[in-house]
Amino acid sequence: MPGEELEDALAAARELERKGLRTIFTKLGENITEESEAAAVAEHYLGALDRIRELGLMTELSVKLTQLGLDLGGGICYVHLERIIVKAGTESVVWIDMEASEYVDRTLELFRRAKAAYPNVGVCLQAYLYRTADDLGSLIPTGSAIRLVKGAYREPPDRAFPRKKDVDENFFDLAKKLLSPEARRAGVRAGIATHDLALIRRVEQYAASQRLGKEEFEFQMLYGIQRAEQLRLARDGYQSHVLLAYGSYWFPWYMRRLAERPANVMFVLRNLFTS
Ligand SMILES: Cc1cc2nc3c(=O)[nH]c(=O)nc-3n(C[C@H](O)[C@H](O)[C@H](O)COP(=O)(O)OP(=O)(O)OC[C@H]3O[C@@H](n4cnc5c(N)ncnc54)[C@H](O)[C@@H]3O)c2cc1C
Repeated sequence: MPGEELEDALAAARELERKGLRTIFTKLGENITEESEAAAVAEHYLGALDRIRELGLMTELSVKLTQLGLDLGGGICYVHLERIIVKAGTESVVWIDMEASEYVDRTLELFRRAKAAYPNVGVCLQAYLYRTADDLGSLIPTGSAIRLVKGAYREPPDRAFPRKKDVDENFFDLAKKLLSPEARRAGVRAGIATHDLALIRRVEQYAASQRLGKEEFEFQMLYGIQRAEQLRLARDGYQSHVLLAYGSYWFPWYMRRLAERPANVMFVLRNLFTS
């Protein structure tokens, strides 16, 4: 995290843009239980769009639907989502994060509704879920912006591949679909969101073998992870995007990051005892 405040993220985004990296902001938070909280999150994002414009940044937004009130009802959530999409304007995609598997149907339903009305909305799909191949197949003809990730939640084996190796292979298969001639014809914006260097290489090689231009898809990573690779991709002519998370509600997000990489636990502990 660059810091807890929007202004911290804006300062980091300015620095990253200078280095040729584009940014996406997300305010940490999920599973809002009060309508007023969901409305406050929407207001925050509207204000963030004002600041992004004032500073002339190319930053886009990524939102979690449970932070916009999905648990309180799809209708409430959609009202907030729509305000953000409209304010973002047609040139700036509002990405919808994908949360735990029980939210996938509702998330895709609201995404499809928004996409039918506005061009500037994108969605995240998770390679660890068995269903994602079908979801991707049905979304490609809509020419949507699609971000492919491995998936960050603890899921049961009847929904998600339990073995990392299978998740990685599925990621690559899905990435190939995302970069397929059919997807390109449909106008899909393909976001390959991983820090996995082996997968990044495979995607680069596959794209080159298909004679895809480097500007025809993009890589996305989290702020502070694989920084050298983020810069290397930008230097090599790829679109390299960095997702910056900020805000005070960092605990669940942070725990997912720790669970992904146990080495991080040691890193945190070392810092606790040496600072
Ligand atoms: C832009 C973006 C948006 C995302 N949006 C979503 C979403 O909406 N829904 C969702 O479920 N998940 C989302 N994720 C998280 C994603 O699902 C994975 O959990 C996360 O990216 C780790 O998987 P990986 O592909 O990097 O591969 P891994 O195999 O987990 O990691 C590959 C290598 O990257 C490095 N690395 C990975 N994670 C860390 C870390 N936390 N700290 C330090 N090094 C690390 C390590 O060197 C590791 O060996 C998003 C990720 C990105 C980059």
